[in-house]
Order: sequence, then C-alpha cells, then structure tokens
Amino acid sequence: MTDDRERLKALAAEEVEAHRQEFIELSLRIHDYPETALQEEKASAWLCDYLESQGFQVERGVCGLPTAFRATAGRGEPRVAFLAEYDALPGVGHGCGHNIIAVSAVAAGLGARRVVDSTGGSVCVIGTPAEEAVGGKVLMARQGAFDGLDAAMLSHPGSRDTVYSRALACASLEVEFFGKESHAAARPEAGINALDALVLAYNAVAALRQHIRSSARVHGVITDGGQVANVVPDHSAGNFMVRAEDDAYLEEMKAKVIACFEAGARASGARLEYRWSENQLAAMRTNRSLADAFRANLSTLGRQTSDRASRATGSTDMGNVSALVPAIHPTIAVAPPEVSVHTREFAACAASEDGHRGLLDAARAMAMTAIDVLIDPDLRRRMKEEFLASP
Ligand SMILES: [Zn+2]
Ligand SMILES: [Zn+2]
Repeated sequence: MTDDRERLKALAAEEVEAHRQEFIELSLRIHDYPETALQEEKASAWLCDYLESQGFQVERGVCGLPTAFRATAGRGEPRVAFLAEYDALPGVGHGCGHNIIAVSAVAAGLGARRVVDSTGGSVCVIGTPAEEAVGGKVLMARQGAFDGLDAAMLSHPGSRDTVYSRALACASLEVEFFGKESHAAARPEAGINALDALVLAYNAVAALRQHIRSSARVHGVITDGGQVANVVPDHSAGNFMVRAEDDAYLEEMKAKVIACFEAGARASGARLEYRWSENQLAAMRTNRSLADAFRANLSTLGRQTSDRASRATGSTDMGNVSALVPAIHPTIAVAPPEVSVHTREFAACAASEDGHRGLLDAARAMAMTAIDVLIDPDLRRRMKEEFLASP
C-alpha cells in the first residue's frame, strides 16, 4: 500500500512537471491582465478553456456567478477539491498573488486527475471569484458549492511556508449619522453635528481596543465628514471592520462596537443607522489531520514548515468553506519575509522565478495530499472526526 501510494504520488508529480511551462505561462497571463472582484472574465475563461482542453468536465458560471466555475474529473466519492482564486486588487494588480492560487489549483487538479482512475473517487477544481472584495466563497457556500466534499484545499502565496493557517472571522460595518445643518458660527446651537457623533464613536472604538483580546481587531475610515467648515455637518459616514479569532468572540465584539456608535449618537443627538455586511467571513478552521498530510508531502519537496504557534493575520472566505468541510489554507513562500501581500513588491514576486517555484510546489503537495485522502480511509475518518468535533 505504501509503495502504491508513493508510486501514485510520483505519477502526479510527474504530470505537474510535464505541464510546467503551460502553468507558468497561464500564471503570467493572468498576472499581466489583473481583473478585480467579479470582473475576472478573462482569467476565468482562460482557466476553464485550459481545464477543458485537458479533459475536465467544466461548468462555467456556477452558483449564479458568471466568473465562478467547477471542473471535474473522475467519478463519485471520495471527493477532493482544489480551490482557485483569481481576482486582483485595485491599484496593485496581483499584489495578493491570486494568479498563483489559480494555477496551482489547476495544476494540482491535473496531477491528481492523472491517477484518479486508479484511486477511485473524483477531483475538482472550483473557481471562486471575488475573494478580496465580496467573499465569493460565502455566496457559493450558500448555494451548496462545497457540499459533499471530503476535503477542500487552497494554497496561498506568502512570505513563509505555513500549513496551520489561522485567519480571523471578519464582519464589515457601514455606519451613518444624521444630524441637522446650521451656520457653524451664527447659529451653532441650532445644529446637530453628525461629524461629532462619528468622531466620538471613533474614539470610543479606540478606547475599546485596549480591552479586547490581543488577537481581535477593529479598524475603520471616515468616508464622509461634512463638506465645508462653516456648515454644521448634517451627515457623516464610515466603514469599519471587526475581526476575531473565533466566530463567538466576533459576535461579542460586534455588540461592543455598536455600543460605541450608539454612544456617539447619544452624546451628539445625531441619529445612527448601520448595516453589517451580509457576507460575514468565518474564522479559518484548519483541519489538522489534512494539514499534517499536506505538511508531510510539502517536506518531501524540501519545504519545511514550523508554524504551529503562528498568529492569525488577515481574513479569508476560505473560513466559510472550512466551516462546511475539512479544509486547509496553507501559504507557500514566494517572497522574502519582509515583503507583505497587497503591495506592488509582492505582485512582482508573484511573477518571479520564486513565484513559479511556489506555484509548482503548492500544486505537487496538494495533488499528493489529494491522493492520501482518496486512498486512505483512516485519514478520511480522522479528518471527519476532527471536523465534527471542532466548534
Ligand atoms: Zn488579499
Ligand atoms: Zn489573497
């Protein structure tokens, strides 16, 4: 069985290697034509065309999202999915390196497809748009896109090799205050200052920060603070984000943050209106058993990870997938440690030799891990038990 497992993994790795040049070209093509959330028409079409040309059965525009897709090979259970992201950021292009995520998923799909007739089960590449802006996976999860999967994997490029990702749950908030305008010098007593309300609330949030868990985050901007100095502002607005390491603490934080805005309203007399975004991001629940398998496979490629105690950083809609099925969201180093994602510098790394190496290693490790899942019922049982036991 071990020999067989190693033989299948070698075949999958060979398949990735055989298409190496096509993967690099596809990644660079997406990188050179950055498309932002829900506009990823070219990237989605290129990925679908390629998967189709390689014999995958491709459904385009799934879940009512024109740039989402699902490409399948093999048949029945177990089912393993590689998730692709391909949206870019305004201003910094592929500063999050989603071109690498997209093509590593496709490449892992090809690698696993090479052996799926021997292992049984099926592999699919699921195209998930708009990670950066909308949370495409949240919408797709609601439509059942991830139901019935035994494992879901997504490799994100970064500045370190890490396996046990701990992305934060995240809720976005829009606030508005409505006051009453008046001449700021002649009749200030007649005005209700909506800007004061927002500034008081902003400072209340700042005071709150001292008394929340160190892993939690609240941050925001003022998008409307009035027009001119001699009119008391009758309207103000802002966007805020609240993040926490687990979904329960996020709910607690949300209530505390709203109390800050209510305080601003109460002190100023302005009326508060607020809306939480429908697409709340769940915390990433990394499936340890699946992550351990991935880590072992990655180490055979010469990449050692050491991140059991790494702290959570950003948030991702992969968290919502991890709430539904056993999932991992490892990061693969393509940039030096001092280079952060969402920068032009990182975008350059996503098109570099290190970027290509990261893409191919991520693909090989995911394909090998898929083989572990497909042929090892004991691993599937451990993954499932752990998934059911997680909060
Ligand atoms: Zn990003
Ligand atoms: Zn990203």
